[in-house]
Amino acid sequence: MTDSDTNVGRRAVVLGGSMAGLLTARVLADAYDEVLVVDRDELSAVRTPRRGVPQGRHVHGLLARGQQILDELFPGFTERAVAAGIPTGDLGELRWFFNGRRLRPAATGLVCVSADRPVLEAHVRGSLGDWTNVRFLEETDILGLCATDDGARVTGVRVKRRGVETAAEELAADLVVDATGRGSRTPVWLAELGYDRPAEQRIKIDLTYTTRHYRLPDESILDGDLSINPVSSPSHPRGAFFSRIDGGRCIVSLTGVLGDAAPTDPDGFLEWARSMEVPDVYEVIKNAKPLDDPIAFTYPASVRRHYEQLERFPERLLVIGDAACSFNPVYGQGMTVAAMEALTLRAHLGRGVPDPLAFLKDIAGVIEAPWQISAGGDLAYPEVEGPRPPMVEMMNAYSALMHSAATRDPEVTRTFMRVAGLVDPADALMSPDMIYRVLKSGTPPSGPPTTRTAAAVPSPAG
Ligand SMILES: Cc1cc2nc3c(=O)[nH]c(=O)nc-3n(C[C@H](O)[C@H](O)[C@H](O)COP(=O)(O)OP(=O)(O)OC[C@H]3O[C@@H](n4cnc5c(N)ncnc54)[C@H](O)[C@@H]3O)c2cc1C
Repeated sequence: MTDSDTNVGRRAVVLGGSMAGLLTARVLADAYDEVLVVDRDELSAVRTPRRGVPQGRHVHGLLARGQQILDELFPGFTERAVAAGIPTGDLGELRWFFNGRRLRPAATGLVCVSADRPVLEAHVRGSLGDWTNVRFLEETDILGLCATDDGARVTGVRVKRRGVETAAEELAADLVVDATGRGSRTPVWLAELGYDRPAEQRIKIDLTYTTRHYRLPDESILDGDLSINPVSSPSHPRGAFFSRIDGGRCIVSLTGVLGDAAPTDPDGFLEWARSMEVPDVYEVIKNAKPLDDPIAFTYPASVRRHYEQLERFPERLLVIGDAACSFNPVYGQGMTVAAMEALTLRAHLGRGVPDPLAFLKDIAGVIEAPWQISAGGDLAYPEVEGPRPPMVEMMNAYSALMHSAATRDPEVTRTFMRVAGLVDPADALMSPDMIYRVLKSGTPPSGPPTTRTAAAVPSPAG
């Protein structure tokens, strides 16, 4: 018996069938007779990037807390993923670089599931097949909400099938959950129904992911490592994520911030990788076999919509996932926060029909710590605009020291990974033992040149 094994209503409709929508459908399935998931894309059997989730072409790390929740909602999920050929490893034993320096690996017991994003989504969707009351309405555009005349309560959603000459239809629902991602129309729909729009907080980072898949001629070049991650930071803004994924393939996303972007032409892509202070990714891909052309995705700003601050909100409508908060992706938080929000929804369903504002307040609590990590971390770049209260300045200075201490002390790596993986609260970074270790072993980043000059870089020919 879970918190939510209470019948709450007849039909719930989930808008959007990506990660947040799927996890929402999973918890709603325990509480509603029928759960309908509506998406504009074809979903069944899709294991490749799709139009509605363009970010799916780029590296997606699933944080440890996300992996734990997938195992809780779909018992045996990780085991099945491994059996299907998805590599896994210990999060603390990946090849991590912060401020250009390699962290000492540490066994954390936290599992990193290293899947291509569309493949991970396909596994979640497949697992949801065990819940026979969940149905998908694919290739269907969501047009808007239906509500009572006074706008007090949402009663359903207007949708239209794609590619067929049919009129828009209304799907009646006892609950509608918006999981349509960053482009969510809920702020507009609220205004149409006579409500205030939520306040929006934006942290502009002008980030670009440029991504390519490879096959390695010889995997021994990885020294057994599952992934190599020189993470962007103010002293080393050019970053990358390299991962071994399913099907014997590898994926590389090069990450440029503040308008810097790796080119999409193959030579320019490789040259940009070669320009990084940390040579590891370039050394691995320079002789690897490319499987596609580089492709770019630009992410202008993190966006947090403060629904919890509204005084009025329609009944029977909830917002979840990127629709509520879209985090700078280099911190890898979006899917895991969506999973944590799904657990929050499960707890609310255990008490009956969810009260929207109470739910939105509770997920604001879920969002807060990861937002502090990512938006707060972005403010370490002097060029990023935003208020910098002393606490943010202090945490960024402490983080730089901690990353440095983690290059010497694996216990620091371990604690840091548990917090960054959203398993432990941020307080764990400030325990007396941790502060002692950070002050003992940490030195501030030295701020080397941001890119290697052509002369300093060995030529591709070696
Ligand atoms: C470059 C990049 C890299 C990322 N890397 C990571 C990472 O490493 N780890 C991580 O956890 N997160 C990462 N994220 C974030 C992650 O992609 C999202 O947090 C995650 O997909 C959950 O989002 P969502 O389900 O709320 O929305 P989305 O994934 O955006 O899905 C929205 C869904 O709604 C559908 N939809 C939207 N509008 C309509 C409409 N009008 N009609 C019908 N259907 C509609 C779309 O087709 C889509 O299926 C990254 C994001 C980006 C941009």
